[in-house]
Amino acid sequence: MTKRILLVEDNDLNRKLFGDVLKAGGHDVMPIADGSQALEAMRRFGPDLVIMDIQLPNISGLDLIAQIRRDPALKAVPVLAVTAYAGKGDEEKIRDAGADNYLAKPVSIGPFMQAVNALLAPAPSATPSAAPA
Ligand code: MN
Repeated sequence: MTKRILLVEDNDLNRKLFGDVLKAGGHDVMPIADGSQALEAMRRFGPDLVIMDIQLPNISGLDLIAQIRRDPALKAVPVLAVTAYAGKGDEEKIRDAGADNYLAKPVSIGPFMQAVNALLAPAPSATPSAAPA
C-alpha cells in the first residue's frame, strides 16, 4: 500500500538514493533539502512517515523532531532519523528528541527499508493479543 513519506535530507546524493529506494518500494515521496521548510511541508503533504537527516545546514534535525513532537497536528507522525553521528550518547539524544528509530550513515538499503516498513506498519499494541506477556 502506498504511503506518503517526507524525506528531509540536504545531501543531494543521499536524497536521490533514499528517494529512489522509497519510490521503488511503491511510496509517494516528497524530498526536501531545506530543513527550515520541514514543518510547513508536513502540514501540506500529510506524510505517514518522516525521514529526518540530523545534520542539516542552519537547523538541527534534532530541533525539528522536537518541534514536530510539540505540534498537536504533527506529533503522531513517526520519524526515522538518519545520522552521520556514531557516538553512544547520540542515540539517546535522538530518541530523547522524539525520533521513533534511527539509522547511522552510511545507510544500507536493506536495513533502511526494514526500518521504514516497521514504522509504516500498524503498531503491535493495536492488535489484541490472547497470550499474556
Ligand atoms: Mn545532512
